[in-house]
Amino acid sequence: MTGSQFKTSAESVINEIEQYYTNLPSRPVLPSIGPGYLQKLLPASPPQTGEEWATIEKDIESKIMPGVTHWQHPKFMAFFSASSTYPGILGEMWSAALTAPAFNWICSPVVTELETIVMDWMAQILALPEVFHSQGNGGGVIQGSASEAIVTVMIAARERFVRRQVEREGVTDPEEVEERSCELRCKLVAMASDQAHSSSQKAANIAGTRFRSIATRHEDAYALKGADLRKKIEELRAKGLQPYYLTVSIGATGTCAVDDFEEIAAVAKDYPDIWIHVDAAYAGAALVLPEYQHLSQQISFADSFNFNMHKWLLTNFDASCLYVRNRRDLTDALSITPTYLKNQFTDSGLVTDYRDWQIPLGRRFRALKIWFVIRTWGVKGFQEHIRHHINLGNLFADLVRSRSDLFSILSPPVFALTVLTVNPRTWKNLQIEGASNGADPRPDQDSHALVDPKTSDEDLKAANEVTKEVYTLIDERKEFFLTSSVVG
Ligand code: PLP
Repeated sequence: MTGSQFKTSAESVINEIEQYYTNLPSRPVLPSIGPGYLQKLLPASPPQTGEEWATIEKDIESKIMPGVTHWQHPKFMAFFSASSTYPGILGEMWSAALTAPAFNWICSPVVTELETIVMDWMAQILALPEVFHSQGNGGGVIQGSASEAIVTVMIAARERFVRRQVEREGVTDPEEVEERSCELRCKLVAMASDQAHSSSQKAANIAGTRFRSIATRHEDAYALKGADLRKKIEELRAKGLQPYYLTVSIGATGTCAVDDFEEIAAVAKDYPDIWIHVDAAYAGAALVLPEYQHLSQQISFADSFNFNMHKWLLTNFDASCLYVRNRRDLTDALSITPTYLKNQFTDSGLVTDYRDWQIPLGRRFRALKIWFVIRTWGVKGFQEHIRHHINLGNLFADLVRSRSDLFSILSPPVFALTVLTVNPRTWKNLQIEGASNGADPRPDQDSHALVDPKTSDEDLKAANEVTKEVYTLIDERKEFFLTSSVVG
C-alpha cells in the first residue's frame, strides 16, 4: 500500500467508523451467530497473493460485524462501562503511526517523557497524595490492565518482603541469599477481601504465593474492616505463614464496595512489611470529583494505586494507570540490564526506563491518547462527565426503588452502580406465566446477557420478562442511553 493508497483507504475507514458510531443504536447489541461462525465465512487457507483494500474492507460488514458484541451500544449494560471516544481513537491512530517497542528512554524519548507528564497530571486530577507523584520517590506508569498492574506490584511486594527479611537476618553470601529467599517465598500469603476482583488471586498464582480472602458483611456494605484484617494476619502468622500483600478496593467488582481505609491504615501501621495496593479499576475515575477526593487522601498510607482510564474515563482500551509510592520497589524487583539494554542515558540516572516498572520489555505509546483525552475534556469536562453518570445512577436507583414489587436493592448504590436482585416471588410468578402463555422464550436480540445454552426455556422466558421490566424502567428515561455512547 503506498502513501496515497493509504490516504484513500484511511479516509474510507474513518468515514465507516463515523457511520458505525452514528448508526450504532439501530444495531442489535449482541451477535446472533453461533460458535465457529467465522470458520464458515473465511477461506481455510491464507491468500497466496495480496488483495486490494477495497476488497478487504467489504468484509468488515459481512464477516466481522456479525460477530461483534457492541460494547459502545447505548443499550449495552453488561459488566462495566468501556470508554470509546474520538480523541481516544485518534490517539490510537498516532500511536500506531509512531509504533515502537519503546522500552528505554533512549528508544523514543517522548514516549517516556509524555507518560511521566500525563501520569502526574492524572495524579493531580484525582488529588492523589504527593507520594504518588514523580517529583518525589514515587510515580505513575501506564499498564495494559488492572490485572497486569496488580501482578506487577505483587511481584514487587514479594521481593521487597524477602529482601528486607534477608537483610534483617544478616545473610549476605549470594548463594545463601538465594536459598533463604526461596524458603521465605513459600511461606508468603497475599490477601484481599472476598469482594475484591479475581485478579488478586490470579496474581498470587502467577507470583507463586498463597492467597487468602477475608470475609466481609452485608451490614458493612461489604467493606473490608480493620478487625477482620488483623484477625486474618494473626491467624496466618500463627500457622507460620507470612502475609506480605493486601489488595484493598475503591469499588470492588461485584458490589462496588469501598474498604474501610481508616481502619485498615491503623492495622497497616503494625505490619509495615505488608504491601497495600488500592484497586480502583472502575471507581477511581470518580476521584475527579472533589466530593469523592476524601478517598484520595485516605489512601496516603498505601504502597500503590491503580485505576483504568479505559473503563470510565473516556479513553479507549487499554490504559490502566498504576502509581507507586516508591519506584525503587518496582525497579529492584524487575530491573535486569544485559549489555544490549545499556546506554549512557540509563547509566546517567537522569532518565526513566519504564521497562523496569512492568512485566514486558516493549511498550506502546499509550500516553498519547491519554494526553488527547485530557486536553479535549479538561478537568471540568471530566467532572461533568462523571457527575452526569452518577446522577443517572441515582435516578436509576430511584426507579428501581419505585418498583419494590419486582426488585430489591442488594447493597447501597455507590458511584454509578446499583446492584439489584429480582424478588423471588416475582421470579416465580414470571416462570409460571412464562410456562403457560407459550410465547417465544428466547430473549430479545438486544437483551444484555449472553445465554447459557443449557438454560431451561422457563428460565429464559422469566429472564426475558425481567429484562423487559428493566427496559421499561430505562425507556421512561431516554437519557440512560447516553451513558455509554461515544462523545467528543
Ligand atoms: N479490579 C476491579 C475492581 C475490576 O472491576 C476489574 C474488572 O472489571 C479488574 C480489576 C480487572 O480489570 P482488567 O481487565 O483491567 O484487568
